[in-house]
Amino acid sequence: MLVVMKAQATPEQIQSVCEHIEQLGFRPHPLPGAQRTAIGITGNKGAVDRGDLEALSGVAEVIRVSKPYKLASRDVKEEDTVIRFAGTDAAIGGGGLAVIAGPCSIESREQAFEIAGQVAASGAQFFRGGAYKPRTSPYAFQGLGVEALRIMAEIRDRFGLRIVTEAIDNETLDLVAEWADVVQIGARNMQNFSLLKRAGKLRKPVLIKRGLSATLDEFLMAAEYVMSEGNYEVILCERGVRTFADHTRNTLDLSIVPAVQRLSHLPILVDPSHGTGKRDSVLPMARAAIASGADGVLVEVHCHPEVALSDGPQSIYPDQFARMMDELEQIAPVVGSKLPRGVKVLSA
Ligand code: PEP
Ligand code: MN
Repeated sequence: MLVVMKAQATPEQIQSVCEHIEQLGFRPHPLPGAQRTAIGITGNKGAVDRGDLEALSGVAEVIRVSKPYKLASRDVKEEDTVIRFAGTDAAIGGGGLAVIAGPCSIESREQAFEIAGQVAASGAQFFRGGAYKPRTSPYAFQGLGVEALRIMAEIRDRFGLRIVTEAIDNETLDLVAEWADVVQIGARNMQNFSLLKRAGKLRKPVLIKRGLSATLDEFLMAAEYVMSEGNYEVILCERGVRTFADHTRNTLDLSIVPAVQRLSHLPILVDPSHGTGKRDSVLPMARAAIASGADGVLVEVHCHPEVALSDGPQSIYPDQFARMMDELEQIAPVVGSKLPRGVKVLSA
């Protein structure tokens, strides 16, 4: 159910509708919009008595949301969600493109700083790097853990880049949330419902990668899990799915971009690195991602990919990244967007 408040409803009226919903034993989710605030109701098994809510002051109407995902749906919030990063001009969603770049794994301070310096010079606003790696083999490099989180915090201080890194389980979630600006939930964890619920209790943006065989509905339901716990700052990321095609590591499903945008207000990024697994395919698919209307890209960059401890074959060189940025900047206006270059840190 969704309570649509009148455009002129006061904060007190919104508050008292929320309290009323709580008294009924349900959870209110106030979602401020450009014109008016809507209040999503979750926790109800069946329909809530509409008349009762409609009679409250400041309420315009009460509508049923038929989609299985409610808070992630455009029916509940028409305007695109824009995620901002306090003290900077960095944003994900809305009118500008977000570029998240960095190595698959943080391997050492030197490796991470060298890459961060390069992607910052080309104008990225976000730095990524794995501290905890979900690897197919238990014998493969598992990440440097907290040491990597510390290195990335230093990178934020030095270059202004906002930090995106993955939490792989409940234990690493709190640590990642403490150090990073965006908590990534990987493809293999997209349906780890207890992890999603815990991520919903954070007050940090959560980037959810599409599961290896997840449908559009399942992808949006993963976002709903996080939002149902009160964290509305969710970013979706297409990273390719498993198909019979074997010329790429995964099949990058760009058609999910307009599909997500039709159904949801959440930003959707594209990861052409995991999506193709091939360095030479990253730039063409990054161009296509932006042309398809994606809110940005997440790409793996490495100065010496031939000796990378993970995902070397899909990591692009810094000069390829610089070229990608130039090309995305040119494509952006064609789709009514723009590519901001560099982060302005407004306050410490
Ligand atoms: C990653 O971003 O390094 C990663 C492991 O991604 P995914 O979960 O999409 O495989
Ligand atoms: Mn990787």
